[in-house]
Parts: sequence; structure tokens; C-alpha cells
Amino acid sequence: MHAIELKNLRKTYSSGTEALKGIDLRVAEGDFFALLGVNGAGKSTTIGILTGLVTKTSGTVSVFGYDLDAQLDLVKQQIGVVPQEFNFNIFEKVIDIVIQQAGFYGIPRSVALPRAEEILKKLQLWEKRDVQSKELSGGMKRRLMIARALVHQPRLLILDEPTAGVDVELRRGMWEYLQELNSSGVTILLTTHYLEEVEQLCKNAAVIHGGKIMLSDTVRNLTSSLEKELYTATVSTTVGIETLGASIVRVDEHTLTITLAKGESITDAVAQLQRAGITVTALRPTSNRMEQLFLNAIST
Ligand code: ADP
Repeated sequence: MHAIELKNLRKTYSSGTEALKGIDLRVAEGDFFALLGVNGAGKSTTIGILTGLVTKTSGTVSVFGYDLDAQLDLVKQQIGVVPQEFNFNIFEKVIDIVIQQAGFYGIPRSVALPRAEEILKKLQLWEKRDVQSKELSGGMKRRLMIARALVHQPRLLILDEPTAGVDVELRRGMWEYLQELNSSGVTILLTTHYLEEVEQLCKNAAVIHGGKIMLSDTVRNLTSSLEKELYTATVSTTVGIETLGASIVRVDEHTLTITLAKGESITDAVAQLQRAGITVTALRPTSNRMEQLFLNAIST
């Protein structure tokens, strides 16, 4: 069975914009799937249709075998959504936001309370349960959105750019939690602008462009054709770089290029330089692999 099966899905907005021009997409049960695309590609429209917020023009949508047209309530039961924008009541307490959501799904308070406790503890929000949500940090608000989306125990979790604006440290914590959820059997669909996120988390991915699926494959296949990640670093000195291996190359007295092998992070490379007495004062990626991936997808 597929968690999601879209056949010839089309959406034309009343403005005349053809947002989706016949999408065919399958996401297997248990998958961790990335839907990738530039702004305006059709990601939000697709998610909107799946979650009942946008009315499709034609085509079929099936979620765990339930048909969107005939069984909308059952489809909605299967899905938890984490939109990009925070959309909870900022004056409400954390715990009330989660419990209320359970109420929308007909879950009695006696069941919702222990469930909310478990989820909020896992997401490190239990200490904040009696705090108004406006008092939370950005990372906490993001986690509250996830907690709220999980209280009815959906089999499919959809996240629209879950780590946008989340700092690197918190991002790792969120990745771990999402991975744990996926291991426990929850199918996850996410959109993101970070290729690193896709490589760390996702098994399969599709590239959507101009309302069409251009590519759908394993993440390994999609990223194998991409060039290695390349950075240009401005440094205090280039003396001593000879000992650091072929991946670090001198451009001039104060400039290096750093090529990362698969699995290596730029943070490690900077630390390596630091140990050799070389301070990095500026760093910029020379090639953007996500853009490369889009270009590959569009040109195939
Ligand atoms: P993405 O999420 O990938 O940025 P969207 O699904 O939001 O893409 O948009 C796809 C296309 O549909 C874009 O051309 C966008 O301008 C258009 N669109 C999105 N929402 C609406 C709307 N409510 N009314 C009219 N056009 C829309």
C-alpha cells in the first residue's frame, strides 16, 4: 500500500494559474520523502490538496488507500500537517493548544492529556506547558507545531520547510526526532531548501517544477550525479596547508578552496584548519548543489 498516491492531479486557480499540470506521485508507506522545488513550483498546492485546504481541479488522491473524494474525513485522520507559518493562538498555553487540536479529532481529554505529555516531553516542551505560546522561542514554536500535528497519531506527517529559520544546533535535534518518528512507522513528507537535510533524512525525493514532477528517485541516485561541495575560504595564512591533504588547495596568500568528500562537513574542515593554526575569516559555498539538482531535473 502507498501512503500517498496521486494520479494526474491538476489544479487551476480561479485566477487562471495552472499550478499543477498532471502530477503523478507515489510515496511508499514508511518512507521519508522530500518534495523539492523552487518557489512557485507547486509544492504548497500539492500539500494543500492532500490536506483538504485546496480543492483539486481533476485527478485522484489516495492516502493509505482512502480516496480523497469519497473518504475525506478518513484521509484527514491519517495526516498531520506542520505548515510553514506559525498559526496557533499566541495567547493560549502550550498544553491547551495541543489538547484542543485533539478535540478537533474527537479525542477525549482523558486520552489527549497523557498523549500530549508524552509528545511534549519528547519535544522538550513539557516544562513550558503552562506558558503562553507567544513566550516561546522560534525553535520551540516550531516544535509546538509538530507536537500539535502529532496528537491524533497520524500515519503520515507532512512538514513544509520544518527547519527554515531554525539554527544549526536545534536543526540536528529536530532531525533526530523526525528520524525516530519515521523509525516508529510514521511516513514523512517534507519540503525543504536544504539539500543536506534531504541527504541526512530522506530515502526518496521528487523534484517538482512548473506544476510537473520532473524526477522521482532515491536520494542516493538524485545526488550521486552532483559535484562535490566546494567552498572558498578567506584565511589568516596559507602557510602549512600542504599537510592538510588534497581537498584543501591554495588560491592565493589569503584564499583557499575546500572540497568536501561525501559525509564530510564544512565545520570539520574549518576545525582542521584551526588546529593547523589557520583561522578562517570568511566562508562561502562556491557551488550550490541544490540548484544543480534542480537544473539537472529540469534539463532531463
Ligand atoms: P510552491 O509551494 O512550490 O512555492 P505553490 O503551490 O504555492 O508553489 O504555487 C504554484 C503556482 O500557483 C504559482 O504560480 C503560484 O503563484 C500559484 N498560486 C498559488 N496559490 C495560489 C492562489 N491561492 N491563487 C492563485 N494562484 C496561486
